[in-house]
Amino acid sequence: MTLKLNDPSLFRQAAFIAGQWREASGDQRIDVDNPADGSLVGHVPACTEQDTKDAIEAARIAQAAWQRRTGTERGVVLAEWHRLILDNVEDLARIMTAEQGKVLAEARGEVRYAASFFKWYAEEATRSEGQLLTTSDPHRRVLVLKQPVGVTAAITPWNFPLAMITRKCGPAIAAGCSMVIKPSELTPYSALALAALGERAGIPAGLLSVVTGWPADVGKVLTESPVVRKLTFTGSTGVGKILIRQCADTVKKLSLELGGNAPFLVFDDARVKLAADGIMQSKFRNAGQTCVCANRVLIQDGIWDRLVPELATRVESLRVGHGTDPDSTVGPLINDAAVRKVREHVEDALAKGARYVGAPLRIEGRFVWPVVLEGITTDMRVVHEETFGPVLPLLRFKTEEEAVSIANNTPFGLASYFFTDDISRIWRVGEALEFGMIGQNTGSISMESVPFGGVKESGLGREGGHVGMEEFLEMKSLHLGGL
Ligand code: NAD
Repeated sequence: MTLKLNDPSLFRQAAFIAGQWREASGDQRIDVDNPADGSLVGHVPACTEQDTKDAIEAARIAQAAWQRRTGTERGVVLAEWHRLILDNVEDLARIMTAEQGKVLAEARGEVRYAASFFKWYAEEATRSEGQLLTTSDPHRRVLVLKQPVGVTAAITPWNFPLAMITRKCGPAIAAGCSMVIKPSELTPYSALALAALGERAGIPAGLLSVVTGWPADVGKVLTESPVVRKLTFTGSTGVGKILIRQCADTVKKLSLELGGNAPFLVFDDARVKLAADGIMQSKFRNAGQTCVCANRVLIQDGIWDRLVPELATRVESLRVGHGTDPDSTVGPLINDAAVRKVREHVEDALAKGARYVGAPLRIEGRFVWPVVLEGITTDMRVVHEETFGPVLPLLRFKTEEEAVSIANNTPFGLASYFFTDDISRIWRVGEALEFGMIGQNTGSISMESVPFGGVKESGLGREGGHVGMEEFLEMKSLHLGGL
């Protein structure tokens, strides 16, 4: 396919290693296809062990110099990178839609959201601070210094090909770290375009590399290297567990943003239209392929009859189609395996007694028309597993205790939502839900200034906000004695 871009040089088909655009040393390449029609977007190098080691070595050298730069200087580069992203929103969005499928309006939104991390951490870079402690020894004072972790590695998913990278490399670079990024093999082009802009912004050679390649090959080198001091990963819980094991031998610092199974609770006193807005926003963004999307919606008896028809009407108005068509509101799913999973989840629910509210499941290629299911029970796969598609399963509940208990009955703890205007309930439910992020009367919970992350098997650590930068800093206590 031909991608029409204002600046064609943003579409890079080479890896970016040690400040150079290059092929894999083994000359192998990986095809990248367009989820909408299966056409070839292009191919990228399948980097080898040696290529990955080259990136790590360059990151080691670049980091030593970068950590000596002041926070203000680091912030200047990030601010310029931010400006360049905003100057190129349309091209970055087109690249993203070509490789990922999401509708262009959402792709533009992701590009702006991705850029917001650079602005925020450009400013945060100037606010690094430590502590001065008194101790039980009157002759001693202790300074707590914060210093960059060093060389870091990032492994990122396909569902947000740009924002999941800037949320990591923004704070890393602000903190004085270097980073080797392995983007998803399904969506490498957004990462490469970002690197091209980083190069223009003045990121020193080697400070940031993008190593395209097969996941296990590149991942093994990144996790086993003693030079890499931290791995930051966003992806599935299954792969996260593999990476934890692989990082054990070098005792790396880890940040893991893993899978979710978000419950969305609507209580009797909720405002129907507001709740429907929240559900639509949370569920169908990115065709239901977000880690924080409502996976199961729990509706209290007293509001059921008003909310369900409202949802059915809204779901009917969604337009499934190619991401580049301005009328589309739901793009294709990422690949055939994703479509298969959705089909299996719906068939499992129907076999166990669920019923469609509105149109039945329709699938054409990787396009899946949104469905609403009622009669959902807790033994169904749609309740236990991340469906990652446009399926809206509705469960009915009677009491607050019952809803909270169903919501918490999962090994995952990423995002959750609840709609009510009752102030006592807001406190009770807000404190009782076992999730890292909770939206009350809102279906959107991601902002650059706010910690993002999960509990239980949804991950370790937080991204975004002040703590997002702390994740890339080590504490060192410096004891000053003999006073
Ligand atoms: P995935 O785990 O399959 O892949 C994520 C990344 O890991 C990709 O770059 C992939 O190439 C790489 N990878 C896969 N196997 C690997 C291995 N053995 N060694 C090293 N790297 C390996 O996940 P995905 O399908 O790309 O993304 C969807 C998942 O990500 C969902 O579970 C979703 O909930 C989760 N996710 C979580 C967040 C969050 O912030 N918590 C955000 C987005 C997505």
